Amino acid sequence: MTDDRTFDDLLAANRTYAEHFTLSGFDGIAHAGVAIVTCMDSRIDPLRLLGLQPGDAKIVRNPGGRVTEAALEAVILGVHLLGVDRVLVVPHTRCAVATHTQAQLRERVSESAGQDATWQIFHVVEDQEAALREDVRKIRTHPLVADSVAVGGFIYDVDTGLLDRRV
Ligand SMILES: [Zn+2]
Repeated sequence: MTDDRTFDDLLAANRTYAEHFTLSGFDGIAHAGVAIVTCMDSRIDPLRLLGLQPGDAKIVRNPGGRVTEAALEAVILGVHLLGVDRVLVVPHTRCAVATHTQAQLRERVSESAGQDATWQIFHVVEDQEAALREDVRKIRTHPLVADSVAVGGFIYDVDTGLLDRRV
């Protein structure tokens, strides 16, 4: 326990949420068979943009919506243990990691931190389409992902809400 008040508003909202909670005892399977790898960007609402509900999908998020080692691990678990048979890789328009160089991000973080941040790695994306093709390929060619698992690459437009399939 702590007497820190920093999270009080969120904890109050959580108590209200728990009063109407309907997912008790729910199994954790992806009921729509869907996994989505997408960016941490707050403009993206992964379930609603696909017409899904809590319980329907596995959601993996990181800067840029990249198929990192951790994301790949999540997809493998999803496919084999959690009912996933369709995987969407969804980077988006106006993504910070696709519109800045690493030097620019280091400079901005250095300014914010008031100290040198040039040692911090930021995995920027120089060519979003090429990165998406490579990320989809990583999943499709993984030895533990069968051909029966559908894998698609899409760009999400944060200004229209539309997905555009590219791979
Ligand atoms: Zn982003």
